[in-house]
Amino acid sequence: KERTFIAVKPDGVQRGLVSDIIGRFERRGYKLVGLKLLVPSKALANEHYADLSKKPFFAGLVDYMTNGKAPVIGMVWEGPSVISQGRVMLGATDPKAAGPGTIRGDYCLSIGRNICHGSDSAESAEKEIGLWFGGKGEI
Ligand code: ATP
Repeated sequence: KERTFIAVKPDGVQRGLVSDIIGRFERRGYKLVGLKLLVPSKALANEHYADLSKKPFFAGLVDYMTNGKAPVIGMVWEGPSVISQGRVMLGATDPKAAGPGTIRGDYCLSIGRNICHGSDSAESAEKEIGLWFGGKGEI
């Protein structure tokens, strides 16, 4: 069964968009199999965004995710093609390019405050579920 990691980032939590985002996945027919609210550690955020460690916005991104002004909702969703369809439902990473009807296309405009995250491949889904939920089999 295919699973993906979806997160509501601090801006999405602060803006009260958690129920909308969960609702979209539920109504689509996907199954919620893991859910937690947490302020991630710097170590977790560094590892989650390890591929971006050389980018100029990396330090700001990690600070934003971890500074505790608002928590993150981490979720695991299960169902057919949930990795690719989850990304379609989130919309383009840069909200300026995200279509209407997508989460980002409906609710935001700034790439630095793009509300949500979704795994981009089977490999990253497995890595991210392990990171945020402590490994396969624990959820
Ligand atoms: P995500 O993993 O969040 O779904 P992605 O994998 O499509 O996004 P990446 O290029 O890996 O995109 O960027 C990860 C996150 O880094 C983005 O969601 C965004 O929060 C942040 N980010 C990317 N580019 C920028 C930028 N130019 N300025 C600020 N933040 C950025």
